[in-house]
Amino acid sequence: MSNQPTQTYDFQRKIETYDSADVVVIGGGPAGTAAAISAARLGKKVTLLEKSGQLGGMGTLGNVSVFMPIGNVTGIYREMIAEALADHLPKDHDVSIAPQYSPFILRQYLNEKMKKEGVQVIYHAEFIGTVKEDRSVKAVIVSTREGLKAFEGKQFIDCTGDARAALDAGVPYTSGRDEDGMTQPMTLMFMMQNTGKPVAQVLPEGCYLYNEISDLPQGRRLYWERNNDGTLLVNMTRVKGNGAKIEDVNYAETEALRQVFSVVNYLQRNGFETYTLSHIANQVGVRETNQIQGLYTLTEQDVVRGTRFADVVAQTNYEIDIHSPDGKKTTDERKVDGYDIPYRCMVTEQLDNLLVAGRSISATHVAMSSMRVQATCYALGQAAGIAASIATDDSCPVQDVSIDTLHNALSSQNVIFYKQGQVSHQ
Ligand SMILES: Cc1cc2nc3c(=O)[nH]c(=O)nc-3n(C[C@H](O)[C@H](O)[C@H](O)COP(=O)(O)OP(=O)(O)OC[C@H]3O[C@@H](n4cnc5c(N)ncnc54)[C@H](O)[C@@H]3O)c2cc1C
Repeated sequence: MSNQPTQTYDFQRKIETYDSADVVVIGGGPAGTAAAISAARLGKKVTLLEKSGQLGGMGTLGNVSVFMPIGNVTGIYREMIAEALADHLPKDHDVSIAPQYSPFILRQYLNEKMKKEGVQVIYHAEFIGTVKEDRSVKAVIVSTREGLKAFEGKQFIDCTGDARAALDAGVPYTSGRDEDGMTQPMTLMFMMQNTGKPVAQVLPEGCYLYNEISDLPQGRRLYWERNNDGTLLVNMTRVKGNGAKIEDVNYAETEALRQVFSVVNYLQRNGFETYTLSHIANQVGVRETNQIQGLYTLTEQDVVRGTRFADVVAQTNYEIDIHSPDGKKTTDERKVDGYDIPYRCMVTEQLDNLLVAGRSISATHVAMSSMRVQATCYALGQAAGIAASIATDDSCPVQDVSIDTLHNALSSQNVIFYKQGQVSHQ
């Protein structure tokens, strides 16, 4: 198979508008759902375009059903915990929780939440391209169940995780490590269920017999069983590659599935003799692909030194967490004390009405390994939805959104920053 283009085609169509909104959010993962909610709460007509049939992003589609701790349970993330995982709700904001959840319940919860918030969700709507006019996006072209349709908006928020819309509109980007562009590997998550009695062990054709921990794809055992209901969530597969590349994802989908059955077989021989395979995620989980080059790029130094920014929109103390990109069985894990993520990481130089929220914000490979977890993406999405709304109200480019107005609106949507340190970077 070749990825060297040998021929190009012009592709022109007249495409009907399906709908117009104040704010069009592309991608319904943690960032996208929070962006849609926060903009809708400011009275905006919001359309959320999601390429799959479910909301929650990697949390549901990829069954990454445990929230990593970030030291700040605030805003829409806190509200979700209160409504869907009340047992885990801490009294104060500035604490760390790491609840395991049911991806099925989160999926149902988010559907109902969007209905209550008045967000129009279009499922099976895959962003294809942007229609631009000077420095603005006028519409996005989307592949729907009724063919290609245009969705017009005043503001657009790219929450695809891959910065798909930003890249299409010409925003420069980086990918992976500085030295070789390699990204964190992919992982197909799965669950096992305790049946209370020994289960039959199988090792389907094509799978591997793992005997030692060192044989395992990550060279370690990594799973969670936090809810006393016998549900084991397993994060133990690992496939090298970039989840935004056709060949890498093709390989990962098949190789990771082989690893799932192989790890299940290993666990059933090593401590989980009564557990059966109960669920495999719908698609391989992608940790890292593209980072936009925004007005500010979050760096390893910011994460390590704990930089505080005047335009803070999210705070986290989640560790640096880099699954080895080059096929090794190691993970670079380094504790951090906490840092700010500035608004400018979501804003581009090139476009006046597009923001990028979630894991593909402007950040280096090391910095994104810490900011990428779900709670932080919910926080970034919430801020992006508010900023897009302010840009509409004030008829200003997203670059000129008043940070005071943004902070006031975040506060009125119950966002509390756990540390208000001295600003160390303007
Ligand atoms: C294997 C793995 C394990 C992880 N472990 C944890 C963990 O334990 N805890 C934790 O908190 N975080 C974990 N993470 C990180 C976290 O899940 C992600 O970084 C986070 O979900 C990113 O949120 P997001 O909103 O930016 O993007 P995503 O969650 O990727 O959501 C993007 C959404 O956009 C949609 N989309 C994509 N392209 C298009 C398009 N063209 N048109 C329309 N829609 C589109 C997708 O279908 C998806 O719903 C893990 C990630 C992986 C892959």
